[in-house]
Order: sequence, then structure tokens, then C-alpha cells
Amino acid sequence: MNAVGNDTMVVDKPQTPSENARLPDFHSVEGRAIPVHTFGSDGRTIMLMAGVHGDETSGVAMVASILRRLEAQFASSKSAPNTNHPSADRRARRVERQAPNTVTECRMVIMPLCNPDGYEAGTRRNARKIDINRNFPTKDFVGEADHPGGVEAASEPETRAILEVVEHFDPYLIITLHEAMACVNYNGTTAEAVADRISACCGLPTMGDIGYPCPGSMGTYYGWERELPVITLELPKPDVDMSLIEQAVLKELGI
Ligand SMILES: [Zn+2]
Repeated sequence: MNAVGNDTMVVDKPQTPSENARLPDFHSVEGRAIPVHTFGSDGRTIMLMAGVHGDETSGVAMVASILRRLEAQFASSKSAPNTNHPSADRRARRVERQAPNTVTECRMVIMPLCNPDGYEAGTRRNARKIDINRNFPTKDFVGEADHPGGVEAASEPETRAILEVVEHFDPYLIITLHEAMACVNYNGTTAEAVADRISACCGLPTMGDIGYPCPGSMGTYYGWERELPVITLELPKPDVDMSLIEQAVLKELGI
């Protein structure tokens, strides 16, 4: 079990009262926390997520590594704390953590583990055996009992968590980590240029069409139906060195 699967993990939220008021805590079917982290407060918002499919653990590990790096960078970018007053120090830390442009010019929203029940069980689907990446309310959603997307679109708390977080933060780009097709899949008219950048950095080929229909997928919903480009970064098999790919993601995040 690593940190991202820990139910007691602290969830970081936007610091303004109005944003805090609107964004609830998110939980899976079995009640596990679906963490959301934010870094930075100004500029455009980029969103990174992993673990939509619970058995695809390489992306979860990579995002955990990126989170550790961001925690360290944001911690080191804050000014000297007031050590005489612990509560003042905490307040300063919360504010400084959100200080813009010390690490990146983007606000980053990170969901390191979108399907914690599947991750715990080692299954692609969630605890109700629904594939989250087929449960989005696309025009081509298939509502059938034996379909991986289930009977109703957005029926799953994991899907609704992603929908609410995206709605709340209005990112300009989503990068979601999957495995193990070893390609940079892109959805949306402006996503190809991003895919080309990532490909040039890490060597994985770009792919606009993965060759089979994905009704109810996040890429279709946001990329093609909401004009919000989605990069589905299909990592290679876990035994491959991922460091170049992680660098490509960091570069896209502006770090
Ligand atoms: Zn996947």
C-alpha cells in the first residue's frame, strides 16, 4: 500500500472560502477517499489523474512520485515560517503553498487515485464492476446491464468525482495515465499538438484512434464533446523505465 491509497491521506483543496464551500470530499463505492490535490492558484489549470482503472498501477506510482516532487518544491519555495507561533506557521504554510509562479505558472489539480476500490482489489473496474472510463455521459453512452459502463451514465461516485472536479476547476487540459498500450492517445481538436510535444519528449508514439470504440469514455466526453483536450497517456508495461515519460509529464505541467 502506498500513500495515495491511504484513506487517511490529507486532501488539499483550494484555499478561498467560496471554492472550499463548493467542493465536497469524494469517496468511492466502498467509502475510500478519492483525493484531490491542488498546487498554485494563478494561471491556467492543468489536471493530472491516475488510477481510473484500478489494476493500472504504473500511473498511480508515477503520479505519487510527481506529488512528492511538488510537495518538496512547494515546501522549499515558501518563505521562512514564524516559528514562534505554530498556528501562524500553519496559516503561512497554507497560503504559501498556494503562492503562484514559484514552481509553475499553472494551477495543477491532481487526482492520484480515481478508483481506490479497484486499486485495492487489483481490478480494472470499481467495486460495482463498472468501468469508470465507460461511465461518462457521452452521446454514445451504452446503457445496458451487462455493459462495462453500466445502465446509467455517471452512476458511479468515482465518475461523479471526476465530473465535479473538472467542473469546479475548469482545466484547459487533462492528462490521464493508463497502461499498457505504450502510446500518447489524444482526444479533441487541440490535443494532437500536446500529444506531439509529449511524444517528442518521451518517444512514445501518438495515436488519435486506439482502434476500438470507447462509448462513455472520458476522452470522448471531454475531448470531443466538451472541447477540453484529453491526453490518455498509455504507459508501457511496468518493467520498462518510465523516467523519460515522467519527465515529459512534468514538462507539460510546466515544472
Ligand atoms: Zn486504462
